[in-house]
Amino acid sequence: MANERKKEKLVIIGGGPAGLSAAIYAARSGIEPLIINGPEPGGQITSTSELENYPGFPDGIGGFDITQKMTEQADKFGARMVFESVEEVDLKQSPFYLKTEMAEYEANTVIIATGASPGKLGLEKEDKLVGSGISYCATCDGAFFKDKEIAVVGGGDVALEEANYLTKFGSKVYIIHRRDQFRGTKLLGDRVINNDKIEVLWDTELEKIFGEDSLEGLLVKNNETGEERELSEVRGFFIAVGYNPNTALFKDYLELNESGYIVTDGRQKTNIEGVFAAGDVQDPIYRQVVTSAASGAKAAIEADNYLEGLKD
Ligand code: NDP
Repeated sequence: MANERKKEKLVIIGGGPAGLSAAIYAARSGIEPLIINGPEPGGQITSTSELENYPGFPDGIGGFDITQKMTEQADKFGARMVFESVEEVDLKQSPFYLKTEMAEYEANTVIIATGASPGKLGLEKEDKLVGSGISYCATCDGAFFKDKEIAVVGGGDVALEEANYLTKFGSKVYIIHRRDQFRGTKLLGDRVINNDKIEVLWDTELEKIFGEDSLEGLLVKNNETGEERELSEVRGFFIAVGYNPNTALFKDYLELNESGYIVTDGRQKTNIEGVFAAGDVQDPIYRQVVTSAASGAKAAIEADNYLEGLKD
């Protein structure tokens, strides 16, 4: 027998900073939004060790801690949260249809805040050794590699932050970067360069991952000289090569840009009236917690306006 569809005024898909900020704003204006949170509550931010640039926290705040505080704040105003994955949507017109593994929903308006997922290198054994030496999250897994050699691939802010953080645990940390300068900010780059425990392998790409049941070293190659080097002592390997927006569910309905991000206007509106997007899923440029939170707030205000319009 088909489940009865639960009727909602506003469903927010995703419980990272964008989704939670949207929930705080919407709940505070009396909408009682439902957040469908997915299997990894909190989004990418929960794997950031310390946020040093979120306004109001001069001593920094942990990614997990800020997620908890935002969740408490949304809850206080009456937002509800379920830990389900949206598996199917029909966004042709309001009310919009959403199906999870547990239930079916009809929502007058939807805010998509599904974020982005870490990029993969696509190397043989990459998937097999995740959890056995390979990781996409230094905060989650760094402590497993105490006094071991660790490598990080990537040259963006995430790779630089992770490399610095991993020096707390590892005997040595390599950064494998395919170019001769970092993409990440100068401040973080300088910290890395001045850290005695870090060796930066410039112009270097990964050739091979060793180990059957757990990581037993890496083979890298300098793309300028062709010289190969075996990093045979590396037991922890952290991949930080950017993100892919989580938009697969929406591609038949929403306009996406060439990299797969949802296209929004300055008011977080998508090409479908009543469907809004916020946070990394629609932001290939800034991808900061503060900008995600701001876009969530804007989306909630616009969703509220849209709901008011439905009453006319
Ligand atoms: P970025 O896109 O900034 O960097 C990705 C890095 O991975 C680049 O150096 C890129 O190399 C490299 N790369 C990509 N694909 C491959 C590949 N196949 N093989 C090898 N290397 C590869 O992503 P990040 O994840 O570092 O950061 C995402 C966003 O989050 C950024 O905008 C960043 O500023 C932001 N951020 C903000 C923080 C904060 O608010 N405090 C903290 C951390 C991140 P190349 O440079 O050659 O393209």
